[in-house]
Amino acid sequence: AQVVNADFVKSSVRPDDCPRDGLPEFALVGRSNVGKSSLLNSLVRRKRLALTSKKPGKTQCINHFKVNDSWYLVDLPGYGYASAPQEARTNWDEFTRNYFLSRENLVSVFLLIDASIPAKKIDLDYASWLGQNKVPMTLVFTKCDKRKKKKNGGRRPEENVETFQSLIREYFEAAPPWIMTSSVTNQGRDEILLHMSQLRNY
Ligand code: GDP
Repeated sequence: AQVVNADFVKSSVRPDDCPRDGLPEFALVGRSNVGKSSLLNSLVRRKRLALTSKKPGKTQCINHFKVNDSWYLVDLPGYGYASAPQEARTNWDEFTRNYFLSRENLVSVFLLIDASIPAKKIDLDYASWLGQNKVPMTLVFTKCDKRKKKKNGGRRPEENVETFQSLIREYFEAAPPWIMTSSVTNQGRDEILLHMSQLRNY
């Protein structure tokens, strides 16, 4: 399960604009600053494949990257910008929910959660919504290399991961698969690619 080549295909502003070749795809989504661009770049071993605009509420695009000419990695805009106006947030919600519910070749949503800080309500709400709507989800915990800092209350990533999982458990029939990652050490990189390949062949 290695990435031989990865190419940017297109930015879409509506689910209708997305590629129509029916190839399987995996969407990466998470709170802004969760480490999504770093993870995407680490998955494809490039420094700057992910050029998603980081301006809050500005570019609300679905970005498709084709991998090995046979499947897509999809970069969705980050959520939870503190400074984004309410209107932008509502648009974002509508846009991505519509995508999650209507995209037939979406194999699994990879929801990124920062493991270096305690669970945040917005992430718990997000995961619960996916569970309640039966959207297939994989939890990807990021920044697992960050150990005990005063800033995160001295809690270890493993504790944050466990708490997060127990808080969303009731919204899922079966506990969602989860992977611990770090873009600094590349922890979890191969595991994600293997998991994606297993899901594609399922
Ligand atoms: P995005 O907004 O979700 O695309 O997040 P970025 O990939 O731009 O990362 C946000 C910040 O977190 C940057 O300062 C990164 O250097 C840092 N970061 C991202 N991934 C990791 C990680 O795995 N470990 C650590 N320690 N820092 C990370």
